[in-house]
Amino acid sequence: MRSTLHGLGELIAYLPYELGFRPTDSLVVVGLADQRIRVVARLDLREEDDLLPGTGRIGQVFARAGVRSALCCAFVDTPPVPQDAPTRLLDVACDVLRAYDVDAAHLLVTRDGGWWAHRCGCGGCPRRPAALPDPDRVDAVFESVLDGIAPHASRADLRASLNQCRTEVAQAVGAAPVVDRPMRPAALTAAMWEILHGSAPIHEMPVPMLASLSRAIADPAVRDEVFGWVAPGLPGPTPSTPALSPYVAGALDPRAVRARLVQWLHCLPEWMRPPVLTFIAGSAWSSGSGALAAVAVEQALRIDPGYRLARLLGRAVELGARPRRCA
Ligand SMILES: [Zn+2]
Repeated sequence: MRSTLHGLGELIAYLPYELGFRPTDSLVVVGLADQRIRVVARLDLREEDDLLPGTGRIGQVFARAGVRSALCCAFVDTPPVPQDAPTRLLDVACDVLRAYDVDAAHLLVTRDGGWWAHRCGCGGCPRRPAALPDPDRVDAVFESVLDGIAPHASRADLRASLNQCRTEVAQAVGAAPVVDRPMRPAALTAAMWEILHGSAPIHEMPVPMLASLSRAIADPAVRDEVFGWVAPGLPGPTPSTPALSPYVAGALDPRAVRARLVQWLHCLPEWMRPPVLTFIAGSAWSSGSGALAAVAVEQALRIDPGYRLARLLGRAVELGARPRRCA
């Protein structure tokens, strides 16, 4: 994200774009550093038994990442019984985070298009329901829409979005003649540049280029190289020729990269998908989007249960924030 968010109402309106889906009945914990969003995790508000250990795991991850400041927001959709349930849970989450030296100065509630602060660390937040800003008027949301990022309604939608397929292109890519020669580094970089920085939709890329690239990443050495480009900063495979990297640091929002990777995925038949799914998972996990990382790993392992990089990533996501219920 390049735009600045003005106030916490804008931040709440923006969160679905950061998460990739609209959180419902959720506790969203945002880790902040230097006034910026560092990491976002989500827990199910209705799974009260998991809230305490779940918040503990979040606190652990934040502490490990050096994130000392957080904000908790309860997204309430189904009327809770008793009425004070969300604020009580926010207080509990705040106490758990404090045990990890993470200070949640703001505890917010949002429901029915309104938001208010149960606890406010700045003295400027509404204490009674105030209307959330119209997402169309929030710069960061506008920028996400420009980048082709729209939040999905739920995790099920997130899963379905990865399952989509441009059948005709995918068939052509899968059926492209196999070339014996390995893809040259320069051709690989050029194709990845097109994927990451190209302005044309990926399904309009030449089929032979897409097919060569998609076959090349079946080779673990090539795949690890590309993984290092799309998931910079993540421990694991490191690109051996960073000078050739088509990933220009700071030039692209990680979410814009993911949007392009998802377009690439849609152009592939299922058997070719696990490497790209791990790129999506790595990119998502390295920039704090655990939900998408978990869903992408899950799909890669459904296609190829023995896919090692997906299993490694799955373990990392699970250790950081149990994917089924958290993040
Ligand atoms: Zn405040």
